[in-house]
Amino acid sequence: MSERATAGPRRPRLRAARHRPRSVASVAEMARDTPEARKAVAKTLEELGVRGVLRRMALDGQIIAVRCEMPQCYCPSGRACFTPKSPPTDWSPTPDHYPRLKSDGGHVTPDNVRLAHRLCNLRDYGWRTRINAMLAKGMSLEEIACN
Ligand SMILES: [Zn+2]
Repeated sequence: MSERATAGPRRPRLRAARHRPRSVASVAEMARDTPEARKAVAKTLEELGVRGVLRRMALDGQIIAVRCEMPQCYCPSGRACFTPKSPPTDWSPTPDHYPRLKSDGGHVTPDNVRLAHRLCNLRDYGWRTRINAMLAKGMSLEEIACN
């Protein structure tokens, strides 16, 4: 008897069903910079509950795909998988203040924002503030890496 047979019936993959990608625009559609591609990206963002500067940037061709732009993305379903903004989840879209942190006076403007998963944004903020504090103390990169 195989191991599978003793494990009982296979359970449905509920996590995948809850965390289904919301993208309505195909990757090929978004890769080309056409008015239709811009509208498709903006529509996808709207369906996720995103308004404001991120939607505006999509319409201006400054966001060409609905993808988490953080250096490290933690989403198990990938950078392009988002859940709606409301109710907020770890995988909801958020505007990340980059390169200037909000706490450093940065604003959510096209030159200082990138699309991020909520959790990826929070973790990156944590790392950035910790590292910035260590840099301000004069610590070397080696000291920071070992801290
Ligand atoms: Zn992410």
